[in-house]
Amino acid sequence: MILSEEQKGEKGKKVLMLGNEAIARGLLENGNAFSATYPGTPSSEVGNMLEREGKKNGTYFQYSINEKVAYEIAYGASLSGLRSSVFMKHVGLNVASDPFVTSVYTGIGGGMIVMVADDPSMFSSQNEQDSRRYADLAHAPMIEPSTPQECKDFVRYAFEVSEKYSVPVLYRTSTRVSHMRASVELGEIRNAVRVHNDVKEMRGNTTSLPSNARRLKSELLHKMSSLGVDQDFSSLNRIEKYGNTRTGIITSGSSYNQVVDAVFSMGIDMNVLKLGLTNPIPQEITEKFLKENDQILVVEELDPYLETKIRAYRDILGNGAVIHGKLDRHMPWLYEMNPHTVRNGIRMMLGQEVEKISTPKPASRPDFCPGCPHRSSFYTIKRALKLAGKSNMVLASDIGCYSLSYYEPYSTADIMLDMGASISVGSGISIATGEKVAAFIGDSTFYHSGITALTNAVRSGANMLVFILDNSTTAMTGQEPTPENDAVVNGMEFKGISLENIIRACGVENLTIANSFNQKELMKTVMSSLKNDGVSVIVSKGECALIDRKEKAAREKYMVVTEKCSVCRNCIDNFHCPAIQQDSEGHIFIDPVQCDGCGMCSDIYVCPFKAIEVVQ
Ligand code: SF4
Ligand code: SF4
Repeated sequence: MILSEEQKGEKGKKVLMLGNEAIARGLLENGNAFSATYPGTPSSEVGNMLEREGKKNGTYFQYSINEKVAYEIAYGASLSGLRSSVFMKHVGLNVASDPFVTSVYTGIGGGMIVMVADDPSMFSSQNEQDSRRYADLAHAPMIEPSTPQECKDFVRYAFEVSEKYSVPVLYRTSTRVSHMRASVELGEIRNAVRVHNDVKEMRGNTTSLPSNARRLKSELLHKMSSLGVDQDFSSLNRIEKYGNTRTGIITSGSSYNQVVDAVFSMGIDMNVLKLGLTNPIPQEITEKFLKENDQILVVEELDPYLETKIRAYRDILGNGAVIHGKLDRHMPWLYEMNPHTVRNGIRMMLGQEVEKISTPKPASRPDFCPGCPHRSSFYTIKRALKLAGKSNMVLASDIGCYSLSYYEPYSTADIMLDMGASISVGSGISIATGEKVAAFIGDSTFYHSGITALTNAVRSGANMLVFILDNSTTAMTGQEPTPENDAVVNGMEFKGISLENIIRACGVENLTIANSFNQKELMKTVMSSLKNDGVSVIVSKGECALIDRKEKAAREKYMVVTEKCSVCRNCIDNFHCPAIQQDSEGHIFIDPVQCDGCGMCSDIYVCPFKAIEVVQ
């Protein structure tokens, strides 16, 4: 493929980009040929941009059913000689960890980048895992950019390390780096790269039998020692000197930005070792820094990953630099770094008084959007459970927007662990207690990890009512498609895969498809399904309010007729649509800007006084 000037992009031009968009751009500038992902915040925008822009250099792109499949398909493409990449959030790497750890042994063909985005402070995640531990666990090289420019530029090194040492490279960011927006100087977009690689010739490596794996492990350790002293990648790391001092900071990733901010705002002299290659730790520059400084603070988010390695390094060298960090409580173990925590760490190292850090105000609770089908589903399900005398039933939820049903007034989530766990944890509770359990799972999450859990629940004799909340999209991460949608992928047309057929193939006999926006029908379905033994499934179907948003914004609006309204507040207290509010005089009204016209509040089940009508 010969790229036109337009396809090559505007080399030298500076463009404001998110870190994630810069990674996607870096992939296009470095001959990436094949990408796959399962969307997960904070990594989603890499896939979103490649889906739009990948055709510029001929990159094949797909949303895979889950991260493990995304990883394996990208690994297959790499073995076939294509430069390939896969992106996921930190918990996605747990799902993909099985192929990841072994593929580091087997080696690759075309360069392979495994981008993982951590979420310190858990803005949109169920835990605060430090994915850098996976680099250690798997003995995989790891590169950490700090800024959008580095997000783009370091892709080149990641492919080069991957191809030179025949290993996938972990490309680790965190929320601040992925979602930081800054000026990025563009390079030239490059044709998708295919290197010669014969899978058949590699079979002694790619077949991970114990006899091969024993040899491969030893080769892998050797590769990692060589990379630690490889000067070809020395530009990933640098020492910055601010003034004249023998005091230093070692840092990487987003923490680097906080360190520079703190050093400048405090007006102090400091040496900073900024690492871009964080597994293995580059030997020469680290040794030099340890010799040139008497005390060193390690600034990093989450676990003392670098600090542990630097302390060990110092001990092996016998160098007397005093190391501070999380292990001696100079730095906090929890949450994102901020200017206060970094300044306080520096003050403690310098023997100065620390500043008081005020506790941040708790973030306001999130809610379903106006017009969201999940609000209608949970409102009705809660009423049905109450009517059936089942309000004490254990309710297992899953990962997705519907987990917001944990909050009042819905309170329909007692458990939420990981993708697909609503059904498997729920079935465990049902088997252990002999009680019926309800599980809630979204359509995308069901395809991701619910199919195996549902099959297992049926075969375990669990007594469950499973709700599949089908809003026709992967809503929370940016409206990515699910396998249920008809799709065109890389020019090929695919018909959606029937959710109903899959549920039946899992062995479910009691299956009902209901309309999330038809409260009478949904109520009847729930009441009758509660009487079934074994596993019953209700698919509650209602399109996400954010799909075709413009079209929905143009729909008829609803209003409260004050003369008919009794101010019972059911629409506010129990239905809880944010568009419905009460003014200072006590009147209930609907904010026309927020109302998306779903009409749910006009249902007699929400407003028993029929006081909500279409605006004429
Ligand atoms: S449910 Fe109806 S009657 Fe009750 S406060 Fe809302 S609009 Fe008024
Ligand atoms: S019609 Fe009613 S429930 Fe739907 S968005 Fe408007 S106010 Fe909310």
